[in-house]
Amino acid sequence: MTSSEIRQAFLNFFKSKGHTIVPSAPIVVKNDPTLLFTNAGMNQFKDYFLGNKTPEHKCIADTQKCLRVSGKHNDLEEVGVDTYHHTMFEMLGNWSFGDYFKKEAIAWSWELLTEVYQLDKDRLYVTIFEGDAKEGLKKDEEAFNEWKKYVPEERILLGNKKDNFWEMGDTGPCGPSSEIHFDSRSDEERKRVNGATLVNADNPQVIEIWNNVFIQFNRMKDGSLELLPSKNVDTGMGFERLVRVIQGKQSNYDTDVFSGTIKEIEKITGKQYDGSDSKQAIAFRVLADHIRAIAFTIADGQLPSNTGAGYVIRRILRRAVRYYYSYLDYKQPLLFQLVPVIAKQFEQVFPELQQQADFVSKVVKEEEDAFLRTLEKGIAKFNDIVDPKHFMVEPTKRIGGISAFILNDTYGFPIDLTQLMAKEIGWEVDMQGYEEALQQQKNRSRAATAIDTEDWVLLHDNSLNEFVGYDSLEVNTRVNQYRKVKIKGKDLYQIVLQKTPFYAESGGQVGDKGKLIFGNEEIDVIDTKKENNLIIQFTEKLPAVIGGEVTAIVPRGRRQDIAVHHSATHLLHAALRKVLGTHVAQKGSLVNNEYLRFDFSHFAKVTDEEITQIEAIVNEKIRENIPVIIKYMNREEAMQTGAMALFGEKYGDVVRVVTIDPSYSIELCGGTHVGATGELGFFKIKHETAVAAGVRRIEAVTGKAAEDFVDEQLAELNIAKAALRNPKQLSKSIESLLAEQSELKKKLESLEAKLSNNLEGELLQKATTISDITFIGGTVEVSSADVLKKLANDLSKKANGAIVLCASINSKASVAVALDESLLSKGLDANKIIKEQIAPLIKGGGGGQKTLATAGGQDSSNFQQVIDRVKGLL
Ligand code: ATP
Ligand code: MG
Repeated sequence: MTSSEIRQAFLNFFKSKGHTIVPSAPIVVKNDPTLLFTNAGMNQFKDYFLGNKTPEHKCIADTQKCLRVSGKHNDLEEVGVDTYHHTMFEMLGNWSFGDYFKKEAIAWSWELLTEVYQLDKDRLYVTIFEGDAKEGLKKDEEAFNEWKKYVPEERILLGNKKDNFWEMGDTGPCGPSSEIHFDSRSDEERKRVNGATLVNADNPQVIEIWNNVFIQFNRMKDGSLELLPSKNVDTGMGFERLVRVIQGKQSNYDTDVFSGTIKEIEKITGKQYDGSDSKQAIAFRVLADHIRAIAFTIADGQLPSNTGAGYVIRRILRRAVRYYYSYLDYKQPLLFQLVPVIAKQFEQVFPELQQQADFVSKVVKEEEDAFLRTLEKGIAKFNDIVDPKHFMVEPTKRIGGISAFILNDTYGFPIDLTQLMAKEIGWEVDMQGYEEALQQQKNRSRAATAIDTEDWVLLHDNSLNEFVGYDSLEVNTRVNQYRKVKIKGKDLYQIVLQKTPFYAESGGQVGDKGKLIFGNEEIDVIDTKKENNLIIQFTEKLPAVIGGEVTAIVPRGRRQDIAVHHSATHLLHAALRKVLGTHVAQKGSLVNNEYLRFDFSHFAKVTDEEITQIEAIVNEKIRENIPVIIKYMNREEAMQTGAMALFGEKYGDVVRVVTIDPSYSIELCGGTHVGATGELGFFKIKHETAVAAGVRRIEAVTGKAAEDFVDEQLAELNIAKAALRNPKQLSKSIESLLAEQSELKKKLESLEAKLSNNLEGELLQKATTISDITFIGGTVEVSSADVLKKLANDLSKKANGAIVLCASINSKASVAVALDESLLSKGLDANKIIKEQIAPLIKGGGGGQKTLATAGGQDSSNFQQVIDRVKGLL
């Protein structure tokens, strides 16, 4: 079976068992403060397990793009070193939400593996939870008895809490699990060593392929377990591992999931992949793996950046670059060349990559270029660290822990690269110091992001949590649940209402603020966010009485200011596609009450003429006062209207379609909008800039904010006019002012040249001789540090001597030291003199070359000391 056939067989099998097949959620997670990336198939169903939402279907199956490089699951350092952990992988899964339980789940996994995939029964091992006395949990007899129907008892192994009890996080749904492992060793090996002893023992040939979790508890904040009202099944099977065992390979990289990419890398680098444990073979695996993670996350809308999810992508990419740079001897961008191969390979399963292949390649290439430059700087830094000139005595030949850490953190050097380079010159690295520095940084970043949440206090059945804020800004309702949270050291409360007019931050639109009125007590809502699908109001305090009725109010003014910017975003998006082309796709947006920010894919700067055209189209649409029509329809229907869906968004079966003139703009969108475009009044673009490779950003204003912006600009213009005494043509008058200024500058320069000739003459006469060296020192009046430097340099040549000149320029101290070449042999060094002797005297800094160096500082009162100091050195 090919890998595509294997994937399809899984989906078909569960379809035949009454499951609905759903698409993979995006790999980048939104609306979940505990997760940056999808790391398991169940993530997108969290709300079902938490009871916040009732599932539309009780039995579901899919293949989910997962990434395990941050948080609870982080496999990054294993990837490529071993042959079965990936950064991005597909997790095949089937779920029961209160439908079937252990009996069916176990029977079906056995049927699929042994009958559909025909895996060798006596190479399969299963594990079940052995119980845990401390937790008061018993052995999972139910699973044990089900397995006994198919598997001889000696291959049903007991596992402890670590391996066989799955928890979503510190709190939340959890339960015992049952794993299925496959032994792919040769028959002789299997006879020699019993496979049962190798399960869960990190043997690369005896690996876990499938985990069945039986979610029956909820873990509370105090650590206790509550029984869940309905029992759920959550399974996850690693697709790449499954393909490997079915195709009878020893490594995931030998299957057709990766072989195309590996061939391409061989072609590009001219090197051969031999599947060994050599660094070169690891590099092949790292590249073949990492490019998938990088490409799919960028296609899902996450660009590499310096923080959060973007930083994780950047780290993966850098790891790949370091591997080809160090071990495949390839010093130019490579990864971007692999994008077309995987885009094609996954065209049928995850078409989003093929649809954006050019864009993704471009972003990847730019990142590679930038990092290759950093690497070169890092190599220079490394050479500097080990440069003997920094050592007073014989160097220790040991790179300090902090230095190794800086190489890693700032220059992206992995520690093994630093060790390798050190070894090449007979040095070593202080590994203990390095580990300490690393640990300290980890502690710092953990403290910065720590969020501490208490258990929800439930007041009412929590399944009702409805957003009514499209139509009403004020409702009477009740609090369903609330809890205290500590975010960055600040105590806040989260309140969930049965009905809420508060829009929760999403799709780029900020959350609503407003008031909750409990009797005669008013509480401010400072923000509204979603956690998965739960709408949460944030407040700084709780009312005295929370159980009764509450009036929730969103102020109309702020909401309207947000709505105009959101509708303007749609008008802008359509105008961009008209003026720049249909390659324009949204890459991010922010909509608030003051402005809008819109990021989109486009490969060149948007010119001034294009900006004018875009503004004209949007303002035209505003004047047409087009009604904004909002409809709910099913996904397929919406797509047929030509609606634009965004990559990396998860849409349900029913979508909300916002139309502003069916021939102009149709978008899937959950945001709040105006009734008709006339409400926007006027639209103006403030800035156009670059954000990343191939991504531009526009900031714009509309409504009252646009009026304010234009007023400010005009006020500024009026000030400028007044300053020039209200000329008829402002631009002409500025031009002539500039021309005049440059004329004056030229005159000044020629005057100064004459003056400094005189000055030179005067100074030459002051020359004295100290231990056979001609010395000139003095304080002079010049207009710039450059003139001072030139003067000192000229004098040193003319006098064949040592010169120190001081000047106070714009109340700052400037010093220049110049030495004739002939003095270098006497051990004099202008750079050292400036840095070590002069800079502290004038409270500043500086540097230069051995023959000429300058310093600038705050203190001009010590010039005599400066001159004496240099004199003394001779
Ligand atoms: P392992 O112990 O091998 O790391 P796990 O216990 O972390 O696996 P689960 O969290 O149970 O795995 O995930 C379910 C399945 O997903 C596993 O049985 C495995 O087949 C697959 N899987 C887990 N992590 C990875 C990974 N990094 N790369 C590829 N497949 C993986
Ligand atoms: Mg793992």
